[in-house]
Amino acid sequence: MKIGVLALQGDFQEHIAVLRRLGVEAVEVRLPRELEGLAGLIIPGGESTTLGKLASDFELIEPLRRFGHSAPIWGTCAGMIFLAKDVGRDQPTLGLMNIRVARNAFGRQVESFETDLDIPALTRDNGIGRPFHAVFIRAPVITAVGPEVEVLARLEAGGQPVAARQGHLLATAFHPELTPDDRFHRYFLELVQS
Ligand code: GLN
Repeated sequence: MKIGVLALQGDFQEHIAVLRRLGVEAVEVRLPRELEGLAGLIIPGGESTTLGKLASDFELIEPLRRFGHSAPIWGTCAGMIFLAKDVGRDQPTLGLMNIRVARNAFGRQVESFETDLDIPALTRDNGIGRPFHAVFIRAPVITAVGPEVEVLARLEAGGQPVAARQGHLLATAFHPELTPDDRFHRYFLELVQS
């Protein structure tokens, strides 16, 4: 099983490191033809406007959309914004997930923070409600979801959705690739294998 990580910009190397630690073949994707033969794709955090611009310049938008129609994609932070249908402003996105997001939702004072999240989808197997320690960096939140979207996690403080799934598409506002807990990566791999 080969998993691609979109490597135009952002923290793609961290995702690749986690995947390799889990024994998965992980490759950097910059060209449309590099999507061939992939079982799934991760779109990392970074800056969604830059990501969108580079994806347009590299003529990746349509190939990525086509890939996402049949294969699993997981977007983290800027990657989540890039998957969203509605970003509230004009910037290139894939528009694959029926979610509305607000960029930089936590303002300048608390641009970055860490918090524990209760994510039942990750604890279902062993029944132990071990929280997921999540790192938010100039993070977006989800402000609306379509009926086909399942909210996987909310912030305890304000209740805003910060992780969601739509069939084989996954989005997190935070960065599981920056903490040692690899449950979210394993969750994505399960989704790829299902
Ligand atoms: N603030 C960035 C954006 O709007 C996302 C930040 C991140 O990916 N850590 O694209």
